[in-house]
Amino acid sequence: MLSRLRIAAVALALLACTSLARDFTPPDAEARRAAIGRTDLLPALFRQAFAEDDDFAPIAKPERGDWLAAHKEDGQTFDQFLDSNPQRPDEARPKIYILPLGNVTTERSPSLARLQEFATAFFQLETVVLPAAEIDDKSFRPRLNPHSKRRQIYTISVLGYLSFKLPADAYCLLGVTMEDLYPAASWNYVFGQASLSERVGVYSFVRYDPEFFGEARSKTDASLILRRSCKVLAHESVHMFGLPHCIYFQCLENGSNSLPETDRKPLELCPVCLRKLRYSVGFDLVKRYRDLEKFYRSAGWEDDAAWVQRRLKKLAAAEGK
Ligand SMILES: [Zn+2]
Ligand SMILES: [Zn+2]
Repeated sequence: MLSRLRIAAVALALLACTSLARDFTPPDAEARRAAIGRTDLLPALFRQAFAEDDDFAPIAKPERGDWLAAHKEDGQTFDQFLDSNPQRPDEARPKIYILPLGNVTTERSPSLARLQEFATAFFQLETVVLPAAEIDDKSFRPRLNPHSKRRQIYTISVLGYLSFKLPADAYCLLGVTMEDLYPAASWNYVFGQASLSERVGVYSFVRYDPEFFGEARSKTDASLILRRSCKVLAHESVHMFGLPHCIYFQCLENGSNSLPETDRKPLELCPVCLRKLRYSVGFDLVKRYRDLEKFYRSAGWEDDAAWVQRRLKKLAAAEGK
C-alpha cells in the first residue's frame, strides 16, 4: 500500500552526488503571467493580490547544487492546478492536525503553540495540536546514518503510521519530530516528506538547530529555529493542497536542496501559489495577511511583517480604501 503513496520531498541530500545538472531556464514575464492565469474578470482586490509586482522576485537561474540544478521541474500553472481537480478542505474535513512524535518539547524544539498559531494564520484553518505519540522503533525502522552515525527514522513507515491516525475531521495530519529522517536507504537525510493522496506528512526540526551541525549556541537560535520550522511546516503542508514546487518566482514553494537554500526562500507564497491556495481554502486575503503580520511582529520578524504590511497597503489601495 505504501508503494502507491505519492511522495513529495523537500531538501534532499544524496549520499553520492550523482545528479546531473539540468538546464533550467527561468520562465519569462509572459510565462509567469500565463502561470498566474487570467485575472481581468476578478474583483480589483484579487487582481492586485495576484498581480506580479516588485514584492515578488522572478525565480533566478539556479546555482550549482541548488534544487533546480539537480531536479527537473515542469511547474504547474493555475489553470493546470484547476484541471488537476485537487483535494480541498470542506465542512466534513476542515482542520489541520499536528501530531508530535516523541519529545518535541525540548529546549531546542520550536514552540508547538507558536507553530499552531502560524499554521492557523497561514492556512486560515483551525489547527489542533494532538497529545504526543511515542516513537515506535518496531514500526519506524530506525538506523544509524552511515556517515554521521546519528539515529534516523524512516519516513515511509512514519507516513504509513500517520495515515491510520488521520482524525475523521482532518484535512491533513502533520507529524513533527526532533528525530532525524531518511526516506530511502540510499539517501542521507530528508527534512520532511508528505503523501498528497493520504494527506499526511512528517517533518523533522532537528536540522534547523545550528547546534546539530556543531555550531555554538546563540541568542537568536530560538527565533531562527521557529522561522525555519514554520517554513518547512507551511511548504510541506501546501503540497497537500495539490501544489507541486513553484518554478516561477522566489517562493515558499520552491524546492530546496540544502539549509542555505531553504534560508534564502521567502516565507510567503508568490501570486501563482497564493491564487491556488486561496482557491483551495477560500480564505479572506486581507484577514490572512493581517493575521500573518501580527504573528511576524510577535515573533520579531520585522522584514516579514514589513513585506505583509506593504501587501496590505496595496490591497487597500486596490479596493479604494
Ligand atoms: Zn517540496
Ligand atoms: Zn510560487
